[in-house]
Amino acid sequence: MGACIVNPDRIILGIGYNGFPRGCSDDALPWAKLATDGDPLKTKYPYVCHAEMNAILNKNNSNLHGASIYVSMYPCNECAKLIIQASQRVLTSTPGRLQGGGTGLAGMCPHARTACPTRGAPIS
Ligand SMILES: [Zn+2]
Repeated sequence: MGACIVNPDRIILGIGYNGFPRGCSDDALPWAKLATDGDPLKTKYPYVCHAEMNAILNKNNSNLHGASIYVSMYPCNECAKLIIQASQRVLTSTPGRLQGGGTGLAGMCPHARTACPTRGAPIS
C-alpha cells in the first residue's frame, strides 16, 4: 500500500507506505494477518501505520488545502478521518475498490464533500 500527496500543480508534498512506527523493527512485531490462537495482538493490524497516515505525517508543507492524495487501495476508516481533517481529495489507482463499500470514506463522503469530490474517478 502506498500514498502520495500532491498540490494542485501536481508537486509532491508527501509520500508514505505501510509500515511499523518509526524505530520499531520489522523483526520485533508480527506481520501475520491471522494469529493461530486468535489473539489480535499477534497480528500486524494493531501496529502498522498506514500509507495515508505516513504520507500526511511526512508532508513537507504545513498547508494541504487543495491537495490530493493518491492511494493504491481504498482508505480505511481511520485514514479516512485523517484525510478529511487534512482537507485532501482522494484519488485511487484501484477504482474497483471504491465500489465495494464497507470502508470508512464511503460512509463519510456525504458529510465531508471536500474529502472526496472525485470519488470513483481513476487516476488518468
Ligand atoms: Zn488506513
